[in-house]
Amino acid sequence: MEKTELLGLSLEEVEQVMAALGLPRFRARQIYHWLYKHQVHSFYQMNNLPKELRHFLDKKVALTVPRVMKARVSRDGTRKFLLELADKKRIETVAIPQFRTDGKKFTICVSSQVGCPVGCRFCATGQSGFERDLTAGEIVGQVVAVERELKQREKQNLGERYLTNVVFMGMGEPLLNLDAVLKAISIINDDRAIGIGQRHVTISTAGFIPGIRQLAESGLQVTLAISLHATTDEVRNRIIPMNRRYPLESLMESISSYIEKTGRRVTLEYLLLDGVNSSAQDAERLAKMVRPLLANINLIPYNETDRLHYRRPDQYTINRFVACLTREGVNVTLREEMGSDIEAACGQLKGRMAAAGRKQEIGSVDSK
Ligand code: SAH
Ligand code: SF4
Repeated sequence: MEKTELLGLSLEEVEQVMAALGLPRFRARQIYHWLYKHQVHSFYQMNNLPKELRHFLDKKVALTVPRVMKARVSRDGTRKFLLELADKKRIETVAIPQFRTDGKKFTICVSSQVGCPVGCRFCATGQSGFERDLTAGEIVGQVVAVERELKQREKQNLGERYLTNVVFMGMGEPLLNLDAVLKAISIINDDRAIGIGQRHVTISTAGFIPGIRQLAESGLQVTLAISLHATTDEVRNRIIPMNRRYPLESLMESISSYIEKTGRRVTLEYLLLDGVNSSAQDAERLAKMVRPLLANINLIPYNETDRLHYRRPDQYTINRFVACLTREGVNVTLREEMGSDIEAACGQLKGRMAAAGRKQEIGSVDSK
């Protein structure tokens, strides 16, 4: 019989598992504490549990934190991790330092799927195909594994936390795996577990409208980011295949109702692709689309990836785009790219970092 996996369960669910094993409820809290506050990977590391109990738990239930196979550090301090899941599939997770806090705090960019079924033309993940959804445990497991890595590498005091924000901008389309994403967020939020508040969580979507509706109804206080990337259906159909099913007009409507329903500001992401969507006319159309909304625009100059032919516009074109939006009174930020030298930036994740030399590096990174 398959063992019940504890990672990804609520505390109440872990209590039920303990009860079913004939153990007292407080064992669940102890396990939760070890797992989420000390990021342990095994029952044998839970020092205050009796030895026989650790052995018993190890026989009866599972605790499968993704294994860190490889880690790379960028010049700007961004770290990219290659994680292996129980079925040997691989995903990437990125930790981005927040420099306003001395580089001691990080935002974690988590994956929600292995690959992505949306298939955006400019995106390395989308072009690498889709394998499967992640479970809630595998999403939460990325936070646990990376927090532990950061603590170990920086030799920081136990107890202090490195990760303070979570963005669903890694591999995959989170709204196509919303049940697992919501379950993961509830554990990320829970003070008895990871304890990162909803307002510090961002979900980014290519525009899956049923998911936007469901998120609005969930009552969550997370930030929604929409990958807009085009101002006409003609262009958007070409670069984001999902637009054919959920075209711009309905997408903009669903964003307004989301804002109306939640009262939350939405972030519109706009990728700047040379010769595709970055003309002065595009900027003007974008300003018109955005002005009626409670929204910020985040401009992202394209991170070039090998084998995809898209290019980032030159600085003149980027500046012209920013100036045009500003002149139109739109609230705009140009996203500083982090980690592009190690292909850790948005859209550069592929989940199969160079196999060559992997064996030697495992030892140095994964200290288990
Ligand atoms: N699937 C979701 C979230 C993951 S992608 C979404 O598409 O929103 C996170 C962001 O990276 C999206 O805005 C996506 O369009 C963007 N992106 C993809 N490839 C990129 C690239 N090469 N350079 C810059 N941003 C990219
Ligand atoms: Fe999927 Fe987002 Fe990449 Fe599009 S940009 S393929 S939705 S991960």
